[in-house]
Amino acid sequence: MRGDDSKMKTDKIMVNGTSSLNGGAKNKQSKFEAELELNHLSLRRRSLSILQVNMGKLCNQACHHCHVDAGPKRTEIMEKNTVDRLVELLEKSEGIETVDLTGGAPEMNPWFRYFVEKIRAMKIEVIDRCNLTVLLEPGQEDTAEFLRDHLVQVVSSLPCYSLDNVDKQRGNGVFIKSIEALQLLNDLGYGKTETGLRLDLVYNPVGASLPPSQGPLEAEYKERLYTDFGIEFNQLYTITNMPINRFRHLLERTGQLESYSHLLQNSFNQTAAEEIMCRDLVSIGWDGKIYDCDFNQMLELPIRCTAKTIFDIEHLSELEKNAIHFEDHCFGCTAGEGSSCSGALVKSDQEMVL
Ligand code: SF4
Ligand code: SF4
Repeated sequence: MRGDDSKMKTDKIMVNGTSSLNGGAKNKQSKFEAELELNHLSLRRRSLSILQVNMGKLCNQACHHCHVDAGPKRTEIMEKNTVDRLVELLEKSEGIETVDLTGGAPEMNPWFRYFVEKIRAMKIEVIDRCNLTVLLEPGQEDTAEFLRDHLVQVVSSLPCYSLDNVDKQRGNGVFIKSIEALQLLNDLGYGKTETGLRLDLVYNPVGASLPPSQGPLEAEYKERLYTDFGIEFNQLYTITNMPINRFRHLLERTGQLESYSHLLQNSFNQTAAEEIMCRDLVSIGWDGKIYDCDFNQMLELPIRCTAKTIFDIEHLSELEKNAIHFEDHCFGCTAGEGSSCSGALVKSDQEMVL
């Protein structure tokens, strides 16, 4: 829960600083690190339970808010030798419970199915961060069935239950296709409690505001999607837009970068900070580089240890207990209810809008 104390502390550290959350200068304490210090928080990585893997920047969409800058023309894609190295490391690892596959659209990587089969053979859970529309693309007609057959959890972005807001953020025609893909997944048993096939949705604000409270919004989504389209899903995750890459450029163009940066900093939540996702995961880039999270990967902020790629380590446990590379964009994870790849980190009744 965000307290007034933490807000006052945040205001203090902003007196001499700019409000731009662009990563901060090297060899200088970032405002985020100063905030942690003020709150007596020393956050290092714990044991790894999640391995996040970015399979490449190729995507069938090119959304305005995309922090990956993914799109149909991107050529960066994970190759088989990198996939095989990850399989070797997973085979030696005991703590990894989940491999979380992201992109771009991970399903468009030619080694996606090979990788999923290998991971599932080790009885490790797989999450597919699926943009939904990819399931309707030529050549992907049987992807939904493949996911079902391998009990892959599907997590999909749907920034609203209304056509206008979704198309505004993700492109014309995306809402109708997303609904069609959700219905396809439901027909296969996804989103229904009795099947064990998890289908979770992700909400992120269309504009420069914090997401509303996760619980009430989930209830609203469930009602509207079921009433209007007969769609069922398991859980809604609310995620804060990170002021980096494409979304950052949008904020700059519309003159909102400074106010959005202030909003994130002034909404620092100590409880959320203690649960930031980088304490339990590392994120692997399409080229095998290791990062603290997907956001640091997009900013190319290296991990704070000697090993820089999966080819430099013998065991994933070498990455545990390490310091984390924090910069000022990290305020995006600790604002309000907090934000992670699994949604809000704490519950709050407060809703803050810019
Ligand atoms: S937000 Fe997702 S669906 Fe949109 S361009 Fe980025 S990776 Fe693709
Ligand atoms: S942006 Fe990454 S490194 Fe920073 S707090 Fe969030 S998860 Fe951790």
